[in-house]
Amino acid sequence: MGSERERVIPSKYIPEVGSHIETIDGKNYLISNDAMYTFYRRTKGEFSEFFLALRDEKRLLGCKCSRCGLVRVPPFLTHCPDCNFAPTKIIEVEQVGIMNSTPPITYFATSLFQHIAPYGRGRVIFKGADTAMSVLLYTTTGILVPGIIKKGTEVKLVFNDERIGNVADVFCVPTAELRKNQIEKKGLQRSEIDWESPVEPRLPAASAGDVAACREILKEMRSIIEEMNKNERARKDIAGWRRDILVKTRGAEFGIRIDDGNIRFNEKGPASPDFVMVCEDLRTLLDGLAYRGAITDSVINKKLWISKNMEFNTIFKLDRMARSIARSKKA
Ligand SMILES: [Zn+2]
Repeated sequence: MGSERERVIPSKYIPEVGSHIETIDGKNYLISNDAMYTFYRRTKGEFSEFFLALRDEKRLLGCKCSRCGLVRVPPFLTHCPDCNFAPTKIIEVEQVGIMNSTPPITYFATSLFQHIAPYGRGRVIFKGADTAMSVLLYTTTGILVPGIIKKGTEVKLVFNDERIGNVADVFCVPTAELRKNQIEKKGLQRSEIDWESPVEPRLPAASAGDVAACREILKEMRSIIEEMNKNERARKDIAGWRRDILVKTRGAEFGIRIDDGNIRFNEKGPASPDFVMVCEDLRTLLDGLAYRGAITDSVINKKLWISKNMEFNTIFKLDRMARSIARSKKA
């Protein structure tokens, strides 16, 4: 088989052999890339059963104390500390549970977790368990914002289609977003869930005044985007990135196309966009592009909605472009 296998460290993080000059206060300094290796192998030891059940059988295991009957999930104790170390035995628990607390949401993750952000991380008590397990949390309704998953929200365990036997093989979504047969299914997989049809926020009807105001804002926005397209620093922020964005606002619909360093404003929105952005007041987006407040903040504060959670990355890039323009003006 000639298929390329994924590496522990993705090749984009591995720098090229070489060196360059950096000039500080008129003096040249040589910078070179070096490597320090920290690969290691580790065993899951006696917890292998739990991870193998996740990976191969899509089952969630806990351990039950033979004396007090307390069920701990995950089953990371072979003997109960409350019962003079009576042995525990492995049992299976259900895959629906209740949030034990309101989870924090990570929008700006370190490079290790950037590809899975934004995500919630919180503790769930699954049916049949007495302790809470820490899991990743997502929504199918668009961007994950505060309020979607709270303490007391019922959630369902979902398995990634590709699993390697670690806790990130699973995550939870609110059961309110699933159909009855999906909630009941044991070992529900990511690919069995509809991620493509989140419900767009409804925009109020536009008055003639709204449409006129929109036209003015669009003029300004178009010139900012043209400026970004000419700016080397801003172009670098979207190198290798390609997205067709459909923007809907009260009084207008249009497109923004990002294409490997190029960014374009289009009067007409794309027919099959990569994602949809809805902002009731177009000024919100304009201010972000003009570096008068971050667009990412507007997303988190629910002033601007995006249809796909993972496209927060694209929003982040637009903010960087706005910053690059501001920096170029300073320099
Ligand atoms: Zn016990």
